[in-house]
Amino acid sequence: MTHKPRGSGSAVEIPAPVKLPSVLDKCAAFTIPDDLKAMGIYPYHRVIETGQATEVMVDGQRQLMLGSNSYLELTTHPRIKERAMEAIQMYGTGCAGSRFLNGTLPIHVELEQKLAAFMGKEAALVFPTGFQTNTGVISSLVHKGEYIVGDKYIHACIMDGCMLSHGTLVRYDHNNMADLEEKLSRIPAQAPKLIVTDGVFSMEGDICDLPGIVTLAQRYGAQVMVDDAHGIGVLGQGGRGTSAHFGLTDQVDLIMGTFSKSLAAIGGFIAGSAKTINYLQHVARPYMFSASASPASVAAVLGALEVMEAEPERIQRLWENARFLKKGFDDIGFDTGKSETPVIPIMVGEFDTCMKMWRFLKEAGIFVNPVVPPGVPPGRSLIRISVTAGHTRAQLEWALEIFQKAGRHFGLLELGA
Ligand code: PMP
Repeated sequence: MTHKPRGSGSAVEIPAPVKLPSVLDKCAAFTIPDDLKAMGIYPYHRVIETGQATEVMVDGQRQLMLGSNSYLELTTHPRIKERAMEAIQMYGTGCAGSRFLNGTLPIHVELEQKLAAFMGKEAALVFPTGFQTNTGVISSLVHKGEYIVGDKYIHACIMDGCMLSHGTLVRYDHNNMADLEEKLSRIPAQAPKLIVTDGVFSMEGDICDLPGIVTLAQRYGAQVMVDDAHGIGVLGQGGRGTSAHFGLTDQVDLIMGTFSKSLAAIGGFIAGSAKTINYLQHVARPYMFSASASPASVAAVLGALEVMEAEPERIQRLWENARFLKKGFDDIGFDTGKSETPVIPIMVGEFDTCMKMWRFLKEAGIFVNPVVPPGVPPGRSLIRISVTAGHTRAQLEWALEIFQKAGRHFGLLELGA
C-alpha cells in the first residue's frame, strides 16, 4: 500500500496491516452461553426481583426457592436488617480502605472476638469474602517445599489458594481415609503439611470424615483446616459447625467460615490460635490489600449471631425440613448421593439431561441450580437443592410432586415410581 504523508513530496511504503493474535480472540470464540440461551437452557445470572425468601420472583414468575444458601432464612430477618441499617447510619456505607490501614471499625474487632468465642478458638480474622479468606490463608501458610493435602471435592477457592501458595497440592479421593493415609505416607515426614477439607461438601451435602482426618493428621504430623462455609449455622451445638458437631474443635487448627450462607451477609473469617491470626494479619494479601467488609455486612453478622442464639428453633426447623425433603426424594426413588445435610443433590448424570431437567423445574416454578462439569466430574451432573428453615411443609410437599413428575419425564425413576 502506498501512502503519501501530508506536506511531503515523496510517497512512503506502509506495510499492509497484519492481523496479530489478540488476547480478546478467545472472547469472540466463546459461544457456549449463547448456544445454551438459544436452546433455552442457560441457567445462570437469573435476576431475582425479590429478596432471598422461600418464594422469589424471577422474570415475573413466582418461583419456590430451593437454591439459596440462606439456611437459617436470616437475610430478611427484621432485627438483622435493623442492625445493618444502624451501622450504615453510624459509619456510612463503606470503609474506603483495608483492615490493615484505614478500614478497621470497632464492629470489625467486636465481630472477630465474638466469632473466636463462638467457634471455640483463641482468635479470628475477618476477610472481605470467604473466597479471599481461603486464598489468603492457604497461600500465606503453605510455602515452597510444603504440602497441601486436599479432598478431591474441595471448593474452587481452596484450589486457588493452593495454586497461589507455591506449595505442592496432593489430592485424595473424596472422603476416603485409606487414600488420605496413602497420600500422607508418601510425603517426606519432615515436610510441613496441611490437610484441607470442606466440613459440609458444597455440592453433594455430605459431611467430611473429620474423626478420620484428625486421627491421620496426628499420625503423620499434619495440620488440619476445615472450610465450614456450609456447616456453620447448620451443624454442631447452636450452629458452631462441623468441628463442634464431632467434638473436635481443639484438634482442628484452622476453621474457615463465610458470612454468605447462614450468616446473612458477605465476608469470611478464619479462626485459630492467636499466633496464627497475628501472622495472617500481617501476611495475608487479600486481607491486607483489599477493602474491609462493609459496616452493614459486619453488623448483620453480629445480628445473625444474636438471632441464632435467641431463636434456636430455626436450626431445629432447618433439620426437620432437610430430613423431610431428603426422605421424600429417597422414597420417590431419586439418587441423593450421601447427603446428610440441607444440601441435597439429585444425581442426574449427563449434562444435557441435567440442563433439561433444570428447565422443566423452572417452568413448573422451582428455582434450583444445575451443577455440571467442571463443577463436578463428567457424568456426575446434578441438581443441587438447598432447603432452609423458612420452607413450609406445603411448599416441600408441592416440590416433591413436581420433582417426581420431572424424574419420570427424564427417566430417573424406576417405572411406576
Ligand atoms: N467455601 C465454600 C465451601 C463455598 O461454598 C463458598 C461459596 N460458595 C466459599 C468458600 C466462598 O465464600 P464466599 O461466598 O464468602 O466468597
